[in-house]
Amino acid sequence: MKRNTHIYIAHKAIEFMTDSVDNLITRSGKASKADDKPVREKAKTLQRLMLTHRDTIIEASWAPDDIINDRLRYHTFKLFKDGIFDPDQAQAYATQTFEGVYHRGSGGGGAPFKIDHLAAIIADFRKLRAYNDNFTVRELQYLYVLVSHYIADAHVPLHCDLRDDPPSAKDRKKPGPRDLYFKSSLHDKVETMWEEAVTPVAVAAGIVDVTSHECCDPPDALSEAIVFDLRNGDHRKLIRPVRLGSSEIMDFMIERCIASYERSLAIWPPEPGADRYTTAQLSPQMTRDIFADAISCVISIWLAID
Ligand SMILES: [Zn+2]
Ligand SMILES: [Zn+2]
Repeated sequence: MKRNTHIYIAHKAIEFMTDSVDNLITRSGKASKADDKPVREKAKTLQRLMLTHRDTIIEASWAPDDIINDRLRYHTFKLFKDGIFDPDQAQAYATQTFEGVYHRGSGGGGAPFKIDHLAAIIADFRKLRAYNDNFTVRELQYLYVLVSHYIADAHVPLHCDLRDDPPSAKDRKKPGPRDLYFKSSLHDKVETMWEEAVTPVAVAAGIVDVTSHECCDPPDALSEAIVFDLRNGDHRKLIRPVRLGSSEIMDFMIERCIASYERSLAIWPPEPGADRYTTAQLSPQMTRDIFADAISCVISIWLAID
């Protein structure tokens, strides 16, 4: 995802956090029956903390791409399933397997690990702050918003699909056939399409500043799909955080990456011929589902940090 998209998702997660407690679900997707009072209190307190330094939201949600630059290592989680690539090559390439059928090779990005690690650091900082006042609200807020970047990225279907990393001409390890992979331009086209849909909406809402003439473009055909208005009851119903314990964060994020990969397979069914994969296959409804899930997941992880 690109800059304004990350800022927008972080903002929407903060905005919807308290109201979204009405829609808490369990990990299996059922309505949560447990007492939501403590979660609501936590959401309110956290929402207030997140709004303390608004300029932090802009910088921290984008810092992993802009400053930290750990894109290849931690913004993705490249999976591949049985039955897609050559079976012998696929087996040799797999270093980790999840749920029996989803494999990951070495260098396949570790978004869930980074998210789990950052969540643990935030929890530690909160304890240390209570003990010796060592960390400021701004520092805590920065880390909360920082983690939102990796969570949002895990919802980009291409970030969780090995087909997004075509092997180089010399590469003999990545499973073939090579023409099952996406063209390297597809990734940027998808994220540019989202950025162009988001920017006018985010500018109009005062979430991002006008920094170029492109910010002043009117909303496009896809913009409606990314509008989440807290005043709209139908929009509120789409933001459904999952009730999680802090020890579940890693497994939950791996599940989310698997869901992202399944989405990628649904959008772009594997077919030889990279030219076959286009942005037209990604429907506005799918974009809306991806954004709603990303916002919900950011809230889920924030509320799980303990
Ligand atoms: Zn990306
Ligand atoms: Zn990123």
